[in-house]
Amino acid sequence: MKLVLASLFLSAICFGQDQYSIRDLKNGKFKEDSSHIYDLPFENKKRVFLVQAYESKMSHKGERALDFKVKKGAKICAARAGVILGVREDSDKGGLKDENLSDGNYISIKHNDGSVAHYWHLKKDGAVVSVGDSVEAGQWIGLSGNTGYSAFPHLHFEVQGYDATGHFKQLATRFYTNKGVIYLRPGKFYRTRH
Ligand SMILES: [Zn+2]
Repeated sequence: MKLVLASLFLSAICFGQDQYSIRDLKNGKFKEDSSHIYDLPFENKKRVFLVQAYESKMSHKGERALDFKVKKGAKICAARAGVILGVREDSDKGGLKDENLSDGNYISIKHNDGSVAHYWHLKKDGAVVSVGDSVEAGQWIGLSGNTGYSAFPHLHFEVQGYDATGHFKQLATRFYTNKGVIYLRPGKFYRTRH
C-alpha cells in the first residue's frame, strides 16, 4: 500500500513537471506543486548570480540545469540530503575546447527518491566528501572552480530523476530563497534563506 501511494505521489509530481512548456520553464511560471524544495547549494547568507537557468540559450538549450556565477574556491553545500554517489577532483583543466568536456570535476548526490543531483566544475582537490558518505542539506561538500567545459568560474547544478513514464531525465526543481519558494530565473541575484 505504501509503495502504491509512493508511486502515485511520484507520478503526480512528474505529471506536474511534464505539463510545463519551455516557455514556462524560462519564465519560472509554475503552478504550485508538491515537488521537493531544494536549498541553494551555498553557505548561509550567500548572494549568488544565476547566469543560466532552464533552457537558457548560451549552453542550456534543451537542458534543465542551472549555472551560478561564483568565485573559485566558494563553498558548495548540498542542496538536498543524500548519499555521495560520485566524486571527481583530479582535474585542473577547463575551457571551451571539445577536449575540456571530459575535464570537469564533480560531486553527485543520490536522494531518497532515486533522483541524483550533480554539482559540476569544482576546483582541483575541491571535494570534502567521499563516495558513500551521507550528507545533510546545507552541509559543506566542496569548493567551486572552473574545470571542464567552462568559460568562467561557476557551479553547474542539475537534478536528474524519473518522470511519469519511468524515464530518467533532468528535472526543474524549486528552491528556498530570500524571495520565497520559487523556480529560479536567469539574470537575477538570489540569496540563501538563512
Ligand atoms: Zn551549465
